[in-house]
Amino acid sequence: MHRTNFDTIGAAKPANRGPKLRTTIDGQEKFCTRCDEWWPADIEFFFSDPGGVGGLFYCCKACFAEYKLARRGGGRESTATEPVIVEGRA
Ligand SMILES: [Zn+2]
Repeated sequence: MHRTNFDTIGAAKPANRGPKLRTTIDGQEKFCTRCDEWWPADIEFFFSDPGGVGGLFYCCKACFAEYKLARRGGGRESTATEPVIVEGRA
């Protein structure tokens, strides 16, 4: 049991525990946990999600698009790389 470890983990990710919504002079903003940026809390920047903070999805539209692309691209890359590794071993 090392208390210092817990303190370090807690301090490293304060955004995950803090509020994801804030009000600025331009209106309400929502924090994107993927790009660590604040964006206007509306459906222009976030997909709507009734279960999410402020009724919006946890990450912005740009990050969601990247996430979907990364999953598709990563899947293709890994399947293309696997046969090469198998051949090298055999
Ligand atoms: Zn984002």
